[in-house]
Amino acid sequence: MQRRPFIGGNWKMNTDLASGAALAQALGAASVNALSSIDVVVFPPFPYLQSVGRALNATAIALGAQDLSSEANGALTGEVSAEMLTDLGVTWVLVGHSERRHRLGESEALVAEKFAMALASGLCAVLCVGETLEERKAGRAHEVVVRQLESALHGLSADSLREIVVAYEPVWAIGTGVAATATDAHEAHREIRSFVSSRYDSELASGIRIVYGGSLVPGNAKTIFAEPGVDGGLVGGASLKAGDFLSICSAAAIGIATG
Ligand code: PEP
Repeated sequence: MQRRPFIGGNWKMNTDLASGAALAQALGAASVNALSSIDVVVFPPFPYLQSVGRALNATAIALGAQDLSSEANGALTGEVSAEMLTDLGVTWVLVGHSERRHRLGESEALVAEKFAMALASGLCAVLCVGETLEERKAGRAHEVVVRQLESALHGLSADSLREIVVAYEPVWAIGTGVAATATDAHEAHREIRSFVSSRYDSELASGIRIVYGGSLVPGNAKTIFAEPGVDGGLVGGASLKAGDFLSICSAAAIGIATG
């Protein structure tokens, strides 16, 4: 099945009001010709969503948020609800990023609640999964990823999952400059797709997009995207430079294999 490539740019807690808008403008200006065959989404910090959204208006690039509350509204100081995000024109959201799981202590139960909230609110969600270095060294990478998937997908129908993206992001590769090898990424993506097939059905498994994240740069994107079953990437550091991000987008537009 032909899957439309997906590239996400996770800006994390970087940029300021002016540089975020300038980055979005640079991407937007390039988007018309270069990006029409792929889905491109940027995930700026919450305070800049509105200005980045304005800069992306009428471009092919969608607006995403890095997180959302598991609750709809109420007395939850500092939280941001799905409805607030959609109010701002946000259509995508990251859920379960490893920095939230491991640095900010988000449990699998909370990730599952957030994921369900995103889908129930009509947001497209990128579910991030991936093992730590210790887990990998202990031979538990597959088990950990399956556990994260099982927890987040629990109780959700195949129909509700057709538009989601799963981001395989080994924790040891995020922000370290050490990307997974193309073979490692291929293997992990194959296991994720096979889990979706056994847990749901082969139709969902062959349609769902699974992207790789972890130290993607223009120099390794082409090789990783050439692996069958890798449908694009989630990009952190390299998404902060318009030229690098666009070059990764072009690599996805040209070279994604399906299978
Ligand atoms: C990420 O934060 O999702 C990520 C993949 O970061 P980096 O590209 O910097 O490793």
